[in-house]
Amino acid sequence: MNVAAILKAKGRLVTTARAEDSIEDVARKIAAKRIGALVVVNEAGAVQGIVSERDIVRGIGEKGIDILRRPVSDLMTKNVVTCSEQHSLDEMMGVMTQGRFRHVPVVVDGKLAGIISIGDVVKHHIAAVQLEVTAMREYLATG
Ligand code: AMP
Repeated sequence: MNVAAILKAKGRLVTTARAEDSIEDVARKIAAKRIGALVVVNEAGAVQGIVSERDIVRGIGEKGIDILRRPVSDLMTKNVVTCSEQHSLDEMMGVMTQGRFRHVPVVVDGKLAGIISIGDVVKHHIAAVQLEVTAMREYLATG
């Protein structure tokens, strides 16, 4: 199982923003779409940053509610860890555990091509483990 297979099942749609969008607009998008993070891209579709609900809560907690009027570039993480379609499920689990984040944008030819969340990784991991258990049971039953 790799990133390409996960994207085939869930689709490639990613909710994005531009660096100059207000943090308030980004918070509204995150709420409306019921997602945990949003990817900031430039006009060419290249990843410029990522902003999660945690960044917004921390920003308000540290700087106050007026931060909502600031551009999202003030708050986003600019050093974004991305992955390719060839990354395996195990590699994705390692990347998220080490980086302590729950979202990884997928980049193909320098452009945003999908996003993998910790929910996707856990879901496919459980499915793979269940498949293995079923195969083991069948093997033991027929052996
Ligand atoms: P999350 O777990 O996605 O809510 O993100 C927790 C923190 O990590 C926030 O500060 C995010 O901006 C940051 N973050 C999320 N995803 C990534 C990523 N792929 N690369 C780098 N930082 C990230």
